[in-house]
Amino acid sequence: MHLARFPRIKLGHFPTPLEKLENLTRALDGPNIYIKRDDCTGLATGGNKTRKLEFLVADALAKGADTLVTQGATQSNHVRQTAAAARVVGMECHALLERRVENMGDGYEAAGNVLLDDILKCEYDFRPNGADMNAEAQALADNLREKGKKPYFIPGGGSNTIGALGYANAMEELIYQADTTGLKIDKIVHATGSAGTQAGILAGLHAMSAPIDVIGISVRAKREAQIANVHKLAAATSELIGTKTELSIDVVKAHDDYVGSGYGQPTDSMVEAISIVAQQEGIFLDPVYSGKGMAGMIGLIRQGVLKKDENVVFIHTGGSASLFAYQHLFSGQKAA
Ligand SMILES: *Cc1c(COP(=O)(O)O)cnc(C)c1O
Repeated sequence: MHLARFPRIKLGHFPTPLEKLENLTRALDGPNIYIKRDDCTGLATGGNKTRKLEFLVADALAKGADTLVTQGATQSNHVRQTAAAARVVGMECHALLERRVENMGDGYEAAGNVLLDDILKCEYDFRPNGADMNAEAQALADNLREKGKKPYFIPGGGSNTIGALGYANAMEELIYQADTTGLKIDKIVHATGSAGTQAGILAGLHAMSAPIDVIGISVRAKREAQIANVHKLAAATSELIGTKTELSIDVVKAHDDYVGSGYGQPTDSMVEAISIVAQQEGIFLDPVYSGKGMAGMIGLIRQGVLKKDENVVFIHTGGSASLFAYQHLFSGQKAA
């Protein structure tokens, strides 16, 4: 693997810290828990999309684009980071926001990430729940092209092979950190949505022949569908990287029992996970992704799947800006 062969610009703070969560490890009485702080990538409050955008925006610049076009759900962290990346390189960002999470109250379309989109002067429009969002965003790009702009289309979550390079690169970074500190990593756990993060992780580990189990906690799709999506993108990313051996579907692992009633819909285990991690470690997860990812990790510890003698790395993919659109879940909590 030699990723400098692909165009990349600098948007974030790297390497992100890899730290042991001593208090959480003690509180859960399970494996040694480490955290990879990809919530600290630096761009517009950070998150996992920054890594993908370093490759995607470099490609947009190489193609002479002046406008980034993308899509996400109302509280999309991806749209917020894309809007910020556009500003950094002097482009506009046009985004479509899907009303995917219903019955969330008035503030939902103004607070959290939407507020940050406003400050960044991202041009956004809403679409109804269930719209074919990538098709809608492609149509928007065509429209902008007719008006004389040079749009560059980024799929939802930045999840294509170019974006996934960001997480192949993150694995080089993580393995270097682990090797230089003598940490043997047994498992990686993280929230998986549009699949680019897990695909990049798997393609990177495969290229390095690093025997680490990766467990994706789905925030939306059913297990089989998520595994198929991740595998398709991981295999294509592996090919782009130039890895000689095929990436088997057997290495793709996902759980779908922490989604609750749907994408972005609160669950008790997510609220518990956010509360525990904040109160033990002073770290904020988010209600849509990393909170459910951590709920999954806690569940797997309680089921004995993640064992006491193991070293587990939780990848904190960011997202805490959306906490401010979910105030009702936490208001009035008292010290125990
Ligand atoms: C987008 C996102 C994810 C999921 O990453 P995918 O590459 O879409 O699977 C996880 N956590 C946060 C905070 C995100 O914004």
